[in-house]
Amino acid sequence: MARVLVVEDEPALRFSLERSLLRAGFDVTVAASAAEGWEHLADADVLVLDWMLPDEDGLRFLARLRRTPAYESLPVLMLTARASEADRVEGLLGGADDYLTKPFSTAELAARLTALLRRGRPPLRLERGRLRIDRERMEVCLDGEDVSLTRREFDLLAFLAAHPGRVYAREELLERVWGADFAGTSRTVDQHVAQLREKLGREWIETVRGRGYRFRECR
Ligand code: CA
Repeated sequence: MARVLVVEDEPALRFSLERSLLRAGFDVTVAASAAEGWEHLADADVLVLDWMLPDEDGLRFLARLRRTPAYESLPVLMLTARASEADRVEGLLGGADDYLTKPFSTAELAARLTALLRRGRPPLRLERGRLRIDRERMEVCLDGEDVSLTRREFDLLAFLAAHPGRVYAREELLERVWGADFAGTSRTVDQHVAQLREKLGREWIETVRGRGYRFRECR
């Protein structure tokens, strides 16, 4: 179930968003301020962010989020009461993936969130320490040397590296990397991780006992 984090300070709107997104089949977490929202980011697949928050401007929050490697690819939909074209452009340049102006229909919000989740926001190029991943060219370089990966190895590595520090269960990796209709088992994931470790070294993908795998956070 996709996890939505809603950061909205208006109690009535926050409550109605929570109710309608739950009804639409999302797993919902709500936060009433930017500070509270930041605490819950690690558990979110998509973020609904209000522009005007009491403790921090939504755009500033968004800029901070995009500078944090773990969240640079988190899809974000901004909510705002401002409708002018200039504000829309500013919001998109600020790193938002989509936009809704209040008042809006919750059915439309749910549809847009589903589209954002399907589309994802995979960065084209990633640098993680000595590792460079280029999605456009499907290339991986370690210390400047090309590493030859299969398609699935590449997809798995790129997915994990886009969310450093975050733990993914094997079942979730199967669904996100192989697709929901793929008839593999968690062994499939283990095998691919083992192949990646053989080709890249063991330090990139960590096993988190009883939970799954995560890409090491680089400093
Ligand atoms: Ca507000």
